Amino acid sequence: MGKHRLQELIEALHQRYQSCTEGEVATYIPELGKANPQHFGVSLVTSDGLSFNTGNYEQPFTIQSISKPFTYGMALELYGAEKVARHVGVEPSGDAFNSIELEQDTNRPFNPMVNAGAITVTALLYQHYGDRALEMLLARFSAAAGRALSIDEAVYQSESRTGHRNRAIAHLLLNFGMIDEPVEPALDLYFKQCSILVNCRDLATMGATLANLGTNPITKEEVYDLSVVKDMLSIMLTCGMYNYSGQWAYQVGVPAKSGVGGGVMAAVNRQLGLAIFSPPLDKLGNSCRGIKVCVDLANELGLHAF
Ligand code: GLN
Repeated sequence: MGKHRLQELIEALHQRYQSCTEGEVATYIPELGKANPQHFGVSLVTSDGLSFNTGNYEQPFTIQSISKPFTYGMALELYGAEKVARHVGVEPSGDAFNSIELEQDTNRPFNPMVNAGAITVTALLYQHYGDRALEMLLARFSAAAGRALSIDEAVYQSESRTGHRNRAIAHLLLNFGMIDEPVEPALDLYFKQCSILVNCRDLATMGATLANLGTNPITKEEVYDLSVVKDMLSIMLTCGMYNYSGQWAYQVGVPAKSGVGGGVMAAVNRQLGLAIFSPPLDKLGNSCRGIKVCVDLANELGLHAF
């Protein structure tokens, strides 16, 4: 029996970009600077539960900002869209993921994919769950990935020690009444959510769970309400790749999210989840190989929504 066409395709793309040396590994979280720039994995999971993997697809790395749509979905389920919208908007900011700015009239963060918005969302989760929040969050992420996930203690400690900018953002949010006291445990939860360890295959499965309308296509577990998946995907399409999101929507045309750990995850409505892991990032904080592979995959498989 020959190889599946999708397996052949990801192997070809892996080979095409294996020798690419563009980009720099993130170092502003000191522990992330230890990442191996050579690591490169690609995974696809289809809505009928088939999985295709190549390269370093089992190499664990921290999820970082790819956690943001998943916590946003949890907050939407808990509080409803109207209440969440009082705390965080849905407009692309056109600025960097860590920018210190809020909407002028409402004082809300622009959207839940930039740090200010994600910290707000995580504070909402903390407010509801208190000390159980981390457990609830890990359970949900694990259900989406289809296996028990845990935290990278070293990366968590490293960000918690050096995350002064996020600490400043959290206090700005407190000042404007977007989040409540106590700030520190909510921020701690945010650092922990960013330090959740995944591999490329996990991320593709998480993407496939979204593509499959909230149900993990491998375990068949219903992880998110259908009603919130639409909101998660819309915000990924408009804001998921930071201030590259417009270009991304134009070229690739599917909801996606990147993280400074080098992961990129995308969801092709009702068809598949895909993930790339490659730590070197471009100036906007997106994985260089991640973008190249997604552009090619979108072209070769005709993934664009339009
Ligand atoms: N934990 C990182 C931060 O808050 C996540 C950023 C990212 O992945 N873009 O800075």
